[in-house]
Amino acid sequence: MTLTEQASTLLHALGVPGDRYAGGGRAVQSPLTGEIVAEVADAEPAAVLEAVARAHEAFAAWRAVPAPRRGEFVRLLGEELRAAKPALGKLVTIEAGKILTEGLGEVQEMIDICDFAVGLSRQLYGLTIASERTNHRMMEQWHPLGPVGIITAFNFPVAVWAWNAALALVCGNPVIWKPSEKTPLSALAVQALVERVAARFDGAPAHLTSVVIGGREVGERLVDDPRIPLVSATGSTAMGRLVGPRLARRFARAILELGGNNASIVCPSADLALALRAITFAAVGTAGQRCTSLRRLLVHASVYDTFIAQLKRVYAGVRIGNPIADAAVLVGPLIDEAAFHKMQATLAEARKHGAQISGGERVESPEHPSAYYVRPALAEMPAQTGPVMEETFAPILYVMKYSDFDEALELHNGVRQGLSSSIFSTDMREVEKFISFIGSDCGIANVNIGPSGAEIGGAFGGEKETGGGREAGSDAWKAYMRRVTSTINFGHDLPLAQGVKFDIG
Ligand code: NAD
Repeated sequence: MTLTEQASTLLHALGVPGDRYAGGGRAVQSPLTGEIVAEVADAEPAAVLEAVARAHEAFAAWRAVPAPRRGEFVRLLGEELRAAKPALGKLVTIEAGKILTEGLGEVQEMIDICDFAVGLSRQLYGLTIASERTNHRMMEQWHPLGPVGIITAFNFPVAVWAWNAALALVCGNPVIWKPSEKTPLSALAVQALVERVAARFDGAPAHLTSVVIGGREVGERLVDDPRIPLVSATGSTAMGRLVGPRLARRFARAILELGGNNASIVCPSADLALALRAITFAAVGTAGQRCTSLRRLLVHASVYDTFIAQLKRVYAGVRIGNPIADAAVLVGPLIDEAAFHKMQATLAEARKHGAQISGGERVESPEHPSAYYVRPALAEMPAQTGPVMEETFAPILYVMKYSDFDEALELHNGVRQGLSSSIFSTDMREVEKFISFIGSDCGIANVNIGPSGAEIGGAFGGEKETGGGREAGSDAWKAYMRRVTSTINFGHDLPLAQGVKFDIG
């Protein structure tokens, strides 16, 4: 079967109506072969307005459904996802190019966040607070917020929607999804699964979730619509720089999940065998196209030569290619030609800054000239300058040597991004310092694992130019609700706060 046939078979099995992917002007290219596997239609401006209007109507009904019932809806979604995991995981692989185990892992992440959200639907707790006034009580409640706009990046075409949608739905909010224009098929498949859930569930309003396909302009329509009180936008820092101020202008809430420039420190006491596996997965996994991919490696001088020699050996042997054709592949393709040229330009720039580079070249696929496979690059840098300061969305790992731990910390924090980080050390003083307030300045600081591959139980997101948003676990749900503080007087007098006297006689 051709990839196009495989994609249609999967979309059909997942319940997507054939006319949604068989025309419309926007070609969907699989990075695995460069083949156009489907065509979809962009949402016209009027259709986006309509989707927001329908979501608004759905909100009026959905917020009245008790939260644990809303949790039941999400539980059913988890069930659908369990059944659909093999098909949806493979579709993600075809559309985004990640290896199959990662495609399946992404769907597992959706299932995990659904499970989390079901429990959460009975735990949307507010506080009861002691009042300073006699016979008064204070309390807070968390109420549904309104339709949530979700804008997602190509590299996690389904999981990021689920992080947001599972929470938003139990919190009482409909969602409108603008997926990456590079991965619309997975979004159509997820929407079909939700519609299947809605048909089984008694009391779900129509248009509880919707998908609007298109590029930046479609995203901008969601960003500017006053009926959407929260937009969760995942993508590059360049995108966040435009979206953030637009949302602020209308006082809307933003969850911005933007680019990273993630580093690991390898200390003298590190378990080097463990570090080698962790670092390889973090740097070359998903072909370096995770927001949490490892991009900077700081290695202590005493272990530098040994460790980098081992890393080079692993890099030279890592299997690259089409993961559907060869199950042993660990590194799939870059998303497209533009990503390849960006990678090559970055490597040329790194050379100007003194980089010694191994790898980085194209791995030709003669039968698929429009597919872009590369050997991951190791760039040994004399200093943290030039392209090391930027996120290039490709498998380039900059390696730098350090001799003093505080110097390593300074280099670690000396970039504008602040998503994820990790330390490899068995020295508890270094470890504790790294995760302390004077250590890593990132939203994620790991110990003896790489910076990528987060679980849904923790709050996910980063600081500085990564945008400051938090999604998924812990108390990230609070961003999807509005808090009401109430003071209740059960007495007959009216004492005022702070002892203020106001006697009207
Ligand atoms: P991108 O910024 O090109 O696009 C992301 C999404 O934003 C797409 O849906 C796009 O259409 C939309 N968009 C772009 N400009 C917009 C605008 N002005 N208004 C509204 N919407 C707009 O990113 P990409 O190439 O798809 O993904 C890679 C980037 O995403 C990397 O920088 C990566 O680090 C980041 N990312 C971050 C996280 C995270 O959680 N921090 C997760 C995944 C990816």
